[in-house]
Amino acid sequence: PNKPLPTHVAMLPTPGMGHLIPFIELARKLNQQHNFITITFILPDDGLNMKPQKALLKSINFINTIFLPPVNFDDLPENTTLETRISLTVIRSLHSVRESLSQLNESIGLSAFIVDMFGALSFDVVKDLGVPLYIFFTSAAMILSLALHFPKLDELTDSEYRDLPEPVKIPGCVPVHGSDFPDTLQDKKSQTYEGMLELCRKYQLAEGILVNGFLDLEPDIYKAFEAQDHGLGGINIPPVYPVGPLVRTRLGDNNEDDKVECLKWLDEQPNGSVLFVSFGSGGTLSREQLKELGLGLEMSGQRFLWVVKSPSHDKVKYATYFTFADDDLDPLEFIERTNAKGFLLAQWAPQIEILSHRAVGGFVTHCGWNSTLESIIHGVPLIAWPLFAEQKMNAVLLSEDLKVAFRVRENENGVVDSEQIAKLGTSLIEGEEGMELRNRIRNIQGAAIQALSQDGHSTKSLAKVVEKWIN
Ligand code: UDP
Repeated sequence: PNKPLPTHVAMLPTPGMGHLIPFIELARKLNQQHNFITITFILPDDGLNMKPQKALLKSINFINTIFLPPVNFDDLPENTTLETRISLTVIRSLHSVRESLSQLNESIGLSAFIVDMFGALSFDVVKDLGVPLYIFFTSAAMILSLALHFPKLDELTDSEYRDLPEPVKIPGCVPVHGSDFPDTLQDKKSQTYEGMLELCRKYQLAEGILVNGFLDLEPDIYKAFEAQDHGLGGINIPPVYPVGPLVRTRLGDNNEDDKVECLKWLDEQPNGSVLFVSFGSGGTLSREQLKELGLGLEMSGQRFLWVVKSPSHDKVKYATYFTFADDDLDPLEFIERTNAKGFLLAQWAPQIEILSHRAVGGFVTHCGWNSTLESIIHGVPLIAWPLFAEQKMNAVLLSEDLKVAFRVRENENGVVDSEQIAKLGTSLIEGEEGMELRNRIRNIQGAAIQALSQDGHSTKSLAKVVEKWIN
């Protein structure tokens, strides 16, 4: 076949790492499999520390980046939600987004403009440029389905979703209780809810939606998309393309000397024996919860690698990261006591290297979508401990649909107690049920690897989108 002509696409990820990383992986995939495509990121600046993002992008040679000027949030009340901040980062950058896109289009001609789930807010101001608009959805297809149906659901429901007596049935999804809906949908009178409604209405305008997932992970949902199964009626579902799982891969084996301590420690542990405990880049627990988790891990008698962060809602500045209240649990004593079985890490862990290590047998996770996909691609069963955003829905998918996770439950005081943690931890590593979860996730791991292979579904599905860009 003739070599395709150079094709140029622009992408608009919002600056949080959880969105930026999958966008970089999408760009990497395009570069590997369709190297006639050149890619330019248009990166809004939320006015927070953008150094890590800038450093990361500058180290990547297959992406050009236009860094937009920072937005100003001085006027926002302190309790503004994360989602509203992200939305406002896009809204307050609209002028410069349009300018950049228009300049690119005039100079080199664009075949597509690919935005993240928040970037869709830019559709109105760029649509007259005539560049086809796509969304790269960096979350589960189940969340996409909810988002597409949400405007209709809003019309049909008067009460708060959590007060509905029955779980909500979204086409292709396991029934989901309203209380497991994303945080942003929990208060119908809030500005955040209104913002989400406006955002989700835009999804129907996309030329296509790429998803960081794969067909065999959520087959019924993709089938429902394809069949235009509206269930609730009256919406337009754009073509949906699962192109994942796109996750970072390990950088290769470090030699023994510069290997970080926690990996050296893992090397000394038996196969499948260690619980990896981490709540993503931003997840924190209350002081009381932190203590219960510590006690639970100790009580389980299992080995654990725990990324400990300072507790939430705490104004005290800590000299060390490890911050149990002394009267509850003395940190030094805890470390000493659990020394033989536990390894504690401050703040940031090499998660890919850990999940791919043979010693890791389970992942206690907040169910962030990147962490979820990383666990799947490495075949590690989970304990689902959702904290915020859409994580409860992910926990439903993992525990009730795919059955690859135990889900923790809070007691009447809103705390997951140590007994439960110990029980689930032991069951995951040693129990029969844990073995069943492991077998199931290994099957899904196989399907994920297959989807990404040369003639796999995700590879073909990406090629289909590229075909549309070329024509
Ligand atoms: N991550 C990591 N080390 C950490 C915490 C997080 O490498 O100590 C990475 C993790 O591998 C994943 C991303 O940061 O790629 C977290 O994304 P996710 O969607 O799981 O959760 P979020 O941080 O957005 O809540």
